Amino acid sequence: MSWAIGYDKHWKRDVGYGVPAICDDPECTKEIDRGLSYVCGGEPYGGECGCGLHFCGAHLWMGEGGQVCRRCRDGEPPYSPKPDTSEWMLWKLQHPSWSDWRAENPEEVARMEAALAAPTPATPPATALPSSP
Ligand SMILES: [Zn+2]
Ligand SMILES: [Zn+2]
Repeated sequence: MSWAIGYDKHWKRDVGYGVPAICDDPECTKEIDRGLSYVCGGEPYGGECGCGLHFCGAHLWMGEGGQVCRRCRDGEPPYSPKPDTSEWMLWKLQHPSWSDWRAENPEEVARMEAALAAPTPATPPATALPSSP
């Protein structure tokens, strides 16, 4: 199996260069993929020295063991992983190559459909708007 698409059990999300993503730095919106070019640690799932999250070139530093994010470089706990992009969730929900996966993971399918239906799944509003009468 190629590394185009894999699954990271620790962060519970799809990884690999076939997966579109946004840099996991909280301030950053750069579009990347979850391939090895962008992974903290430089190895699948982060290897020995990285957290396994994915960052753009501006948010990776070369350390002793390879490229790492700022948190890992400074010995801090890792960032929170960002949710999958809508693009990726739609792909999984619609593409024929994922039909077996959809059959085996109805809860995940429901979760993604709910996330896509929400207006802003990445950043829920601080205060809920009152429902109109
Ligand atoms: Zn890291
Ligand atoms: Zn970034």
